[in-house]
Amino acid sequence: MADRIVNGRRRSDDLLLDTALRDFYGAADEMNLSESLISMLSYPERRLDVSVPVELEDGNVKVFKGYRVQHSTALGPSKGGIRYAKDLTGAECEGLAMLMTWKCSLAGIPYGGGKGGICCDPTKLTRREKERMSRTYGARIAPIIGRWSDVPAPDMYTGGQEMVWIMDTICKMLGHFEPAMLTGKPVDYWGAHGRVEATGRGVATCALELMRQKNLDPSKMKVAVQGFGNVGSYTALLLKEAGATIVAISDTTGTYYNPKGINIEKAFEYMNTNPQQRGGKLNGFEKEGCEKIPLNDILFVDCDVFAPCAAQGVLNQDTAGKIKARYVLEGANSPTTPEGEEILKDAGVIVVPDFLANAGGVIGSYFEWAQNLQGFSWTEEEYNKRLVALMTENFTKVWNYSQDKKVTMRRSAYIAAIKRVSDIVALRGVYL
Ligand code: GLU
Repeated sequence: MADRIVNGRRRSDDLLLDTALRDFYGAADEMNLSESLISMLSYPERRLDVSVPVELEDGNVKVFKGYRVQHSTALGPSKGGIRYAKDLTGAECEGLAMLMTWKCSLAGIPYGGGKGGICCDPTKLTRREKERMSRTYGARIAPIIGRWSDVPAPDMYTGGQEMVWIMDTICKMLGHFEPAMLTGKPVDYWGAHGRVEATGRGVATCALELMRQKNLDPSKMKVAVQGFGNVGSYTALLLKEAGATIVAISDTTGTYYNPKGINIEKAFEYMNTNPQQRGGKLNGFEKEGCEKIPLNDILFVDCDVFAPCAAQGVLNQDTAGKIKARYVLEGANSPTTPEGEEILKDAGVIVVPDFLANAGGVIGSYFEWAQNLQGFSWTEEEYNKRLVALMTENFTKVWNYSQDKKVTMRRSAYIAAIKRVSDIVALRGVYL
């Protein structure tokens, strides 16, 4: 993916990185950030590209491309997930790492932003192939990973198992155990009670806070959730538990629709029954009392709240004008393009931006890291209580500013996030 300089500013052919840069520039200009700081923060501090050779089941070796990007360590160790995705590029990781910088800054937690992953189709790999791939990737990024330097976590198509493989490999290389080097570990292996649900709990908390601010009764709200992975599934479940009607859910196999409400508990049960057979998907779920409609129709179903919790760039110039929802909760990273955002803004749709709405994951990671450093674990109740309190505080901060200054929530979130980072860079200097 090529970089360009337009009017002295960095731009990219990669949609996600370009979106991150444009959103950043818009906010930076509004707050009169100096050109020196703008150019510093336009680039990651460090990017490591690795090759990941994997011996496949048939004996052949396939080489995958892997990345780890540290956008900023101004506030602390860089923090962010590792994803396994088909078209992953280094440029995309740079954009995602930048978003993590803003996410951690806005959340008030002591981290900079990082991101990484492997360009692969994880659905086509066996468990043993995935293990070999994760371990080799872990070994190759090991020189820049550590509890005080860069702390990875799960992201798309990775979870507790991948974290264990990576951590176990790096610990063996170090010759000692270091549980705080990454988060999102299984509860039984230095993970934290509550981390799995944390991102969805954060999205649901923002949705409910927004309803409170707008005097809307959750039990009268119709919600559509795109994506039924870790983020979407818990967002749907927790909003249903709060009284909302979940009219549609989706995954790569299609959209499952029922205007009277989908039984989300049943969808969880369905996912957990014979997951291998359906590739861990909702495929066939229409038999459980809902209608299967085309995949992209999730965007346009009749609902009040739409939570994109899957892919990036889904709300764009072609789709944003057609959605019925009045409120968008971004569970995924970067689901709205700047063009999409303009259309939504003109239509009066309120968008709770990704790095506010989905910050529950990294806030939960912070709690896990803090527990690991102390060798002391909290109860799930304690974890959830602190998570909801912090999410509510952050939401309120962004909401109040956006109301006072009559700007979008994204712009308001950016300004708060950039300010914390730029204040620290001003204190620490350029030599970071
Ligand atoms: N992958 C998640 C995110 O994008 C969590 C990152 C973390 O916990 O470090 O926010």
